[in-house]
Amino acid sequence: MHKMQKDLQQPSREILEAAGFILSGGIGAVPTETVYGLASDALNPSAARKIFEAKGRPFIDPLIVHVIDIEMAEKVAVFDGDSRRLAEKFWPGPFTMVLPRREIIDDIVTAGLDTVAVRMPSHPVMRSLIAASGRPLVAPSANPFGYVSPTTAAHVREQLGGKIDFILDGGPCECGVESTILLTTSSPKKLLRPGPISPDQIEEALGEAIDRSPKKNEAHPQAPGMLNSHYSPKSRLKLFKNESEIPADFKGEVIFVKRPANPLKNHYWLSESGDLREAAHNLFALLRSLDKVSVNGMYCQIPKKEGIGLALFDRLSRAETKMQS
Ligand code: AMP
Ligand code: MG
Repeated sequence: MHKMQKDLQQPSREILEAAGFILSGGIGAVPTETVYGLASDALNPSAARKIFEAKGRPFIDPLIVHVIDIEMAEKVAVFDGDSRRLAEKFWPGPFTMVLPRREIIDDIVTAGLDTVAVRMPSHPVMRSLIAASGRPLVAPSANPFGYVSPTTAAHVREQLGGKIDFILDGGPCECGVESTILLTTSSPKKLLRPGPISPDQIEEALGEAIDRSPKKNEAHPQAPGMLNSHYSPKSRLKLFKNESEIPADFKGEVIFVKRPANPLKNHYWLSESGDLREAAHNLFALLRSLDKVSVNGMYCQIPKKEGIGLALFDRLSRAETKMQS
């Protein structure tokens, strides 16, 4: 059986107030270990509708339901042996499973699909909010649809402040990229979105291979995170493998994964040592801050496509595609 995580702390006044908003159909931002989420009661369709409206998110893009424990998860979705094993291995944490849905979940949450995406987060603030509300929460990233996800409360305030009922500040998010999403109802199971939990980890836990790069279906995407134009900054972004690909007269910002030996004034880096977890933690915040000042566009180095580097590469390629379209 899954070990229940004890949420020992009493909820703070802020959490209780936020839970009050949630229970009366409000929406607000909450830190998670991946990025900041925009949360509402997953069992209240009109509250979920407000999330789509605040984000400008198309209604065909289903939401992830966040739960506090396996009991709550079993109320919204149907688990089998494999999905239970994956839950035991990766929950609480940055891992989402698409599972057969139960009737308690409204069509607006699943975009009418017969499956529902479920995740058990580990962040203590998100956990206390779910516990204090006593409800599963939907919580897509707290940003306008299609923009880079927020990893600090300030990012949320800049874009959604005034539009939402509360913002809980839990400091910068640890992972910095959105959760890994696995479709569990197909055979083999499919990786719908790379994230902090790698395909190798999933295959090891399952004891079988998964489809690591399923074909996109643009007409009805299984995960609109898979749409090419997702996660984009406004400035022009191009990716490079070798520095020699950057034109000599390029005046914009150049982002490296690891600190270059002799950095120039327009050089930035995602991690001092080239650590991919640290790079993921910093990516969206750096793109956001450069996006505010960039005039000539940016170049970003392609990270190693291993572990969380797959998620980094995925988000960067989408950002680049948008710039070219
Ligand atoms: P977000 O909450 O914005 O991080 O995105 C959640 C992602 O999960 C979206 O891109 C959804 O398409 C995907 N998702 C949610 N529910 C389902 C589902 N039932 N089937 C496939 N993908 C889903
Ligand atoms: Mg998002």
